Amino acid sequence: MTDTAERSGDAAAHAEPVRTRALIIGTGFSGLGMAIALQRQGVDFVILEKADDIGGTWRDNTYPGCACDIPSHMYSFSFEPKADWQHMWSLQPEIFDYLRGVADKYGLRRYVRFGARVEHARWDEGESMWHVHTADGDEYLAQFLISGAGALHVPLTPEFEGLEDFGGVAFHSARWNHDVDITRKRVAVIGTGASAIQLVPAIVDEVAELQVYQRTPPWVMPRPNNALPQWLRRVFTDVPGTRALARLAIYWAHEVVGFGMTKQPGLLRVGRLLGQWNIRRSVKDRALRRALTPSYRTGCKRILNSDIYYPAIANPRTEVITDRIVRFTADGIVTEDGRERPVDVVVFATGFHVTDSYTYVRITGPDGEELVDRWTREGVQAHRGIAVAGMPNLFFLLGPNTGLGHNSVVFMIESQIRYVAQAIAAVDDAGVTAISPRRSAQDDFNRDLHADLDRAVWSTGGCRSYYMDEHGRNRILWGGMTWQYWLATRRLRRSEFTFSGR
Ligand code: NAP
Repeated sequence: MTDTAERSGDAAAHAEPVRTRALIIGTGFSGLGMAIALQRQGVDFVILEKADDIGGTWRDNTYPGCACDIPSHMYSFSFEPKADWQHMWSLQPEIFDYLRGVADKYGLRRYVRFGARVEHARWDEGESMWHVHTADGDEYLAQFLISGAGALHVPLTPEFEGLEDFGGVAFHSARWNHDVDITRKRVAVIGTGASAIQLVPAIVDEVAELQVYQRTPPWVMPRPNNALPQWLRRVFTDVPGTRALARLAIYWAHEVVGFGMTKQPGLLRVGRLLGQWNIRRSVKDRALRRALTPSYRTGCKRILNSDIYYPAIANPRTEVITDRIVRFTADGIVTEDGRERPVDVVVFATGFHVTDSYTYVRITGPDGEELVDRWTREGVQAHRGIAVAGMPNLFFLLGPNTGLGHNSVVFMIESQIRYVAQAIAAVDDAGVTAISPRRSAQDDFNRDLHADLDRAVWSTGGCRSYYMDEHGRNRILWGGMTWQYWLATRRLRRSEFTFSGR
């Protein structure tokens, strides 16, 4: 068959739009959790997944050492506890397995269209339907559109001069190239965020030389992560209530950190002392200690945890480079002091497109209004971080200002899933076809939220982070305690919404 015939065959296969009541984007914790809730509610749905497997961030991030820095007894669905987590802070393969297990248990794979990258969604007011188009030319029609895409899925690789001429191998930490053997190679890791501090200790003993390019040092708290002893796993399995108790203890311990970040910055001094001690105990060189010590307040950028990062930094194979990178050459990296370091493999641990992640799917509301235009003009915002005024039946999970710097986002996701399920039920109860928040309710919510955020450490701590948009406004994090968010989303207040259609 020729290319053209194949394409026209495809076109014929794609001719009929797929109709469903609810369309979910993504198969991470958000998408899968939402699907389970809709299943329970008897709402027909389809899930669109850009990749060829489920799992979201836990499918994409396979770099050595990848793990979660929230304990798994908390970083898991409340309704799907797992007794035998191997570590307190799980490694990526176990979390990925957990998600696959959940998908299988609830039979979710049959609802997923894999390789379906959403490009455009357009609301049709007459039909009260979202028309959703994927990159492969398919069209889906759904009354409700729920994005579970999150904000940490589009890798950011900075545009360095000369990168295209680099003769070695280069890849992003979230697209780890497992075909490349790094054994005894000269490896450069660019960035020192959450991903870098996990992968640096995981590869240092394999490589010949490790160059760590640090722009801003992170605060790294001491934290051992040995395998949980067998007896403790048995306790969690056999003794009723122990898992729930562990979850509760983990939850409140993390909320204390949140209290420091949002209400009592004085508490964060403890973090500074712990972070300084963590450096001192592994790094003897004074100049290096100074280079590793942040100048901003603990918590301003994401607080990281590791007992093995600084020992890896102190390893004689590692060099921390704080001079700015000016360009790449065919053989290596040149820094602003004019020095060129030859390198075989470059890992960009440079994070993700976060505050602009919403620009990657075009959403066209009533009267042709582009959501990206509104958000570019007004800043990214939603009512309770979930629904958007003037955009009927559109919901975001982990949407604007609902990320966290201190506790499990799965807790936030579950609150949001419940809220979206209530919104759909409210539409059905009212005998209408569409729901969207009142502009006034959304504005009130965001005014209060930003008043809190302006006082929080992310704004006052003296750092630059991906939480902030180009105007210096935090568009990513929730501004209070997570139980406050739970309270704010526990019951959908109908008075905050307008209902339309039919
Ligand atoms: P990140 O926190 O955004 O860190 C990116 C790093 O790259 C920073 O050190 C940044 O420096 C540096 N960088 C960016 N552009 C650069 C440039 N042009 N030149 C030099 N350095 C540059 O990204 P991440 O480590 O992938 O983590 C992203 C988020 O994913 C985390 O905050 C967390 O929410 C999540 N995550 C969680 C875990 C976990 O649970 N343990 C693990 C991995 C990721 P600056 O600081 O100066 O900007």
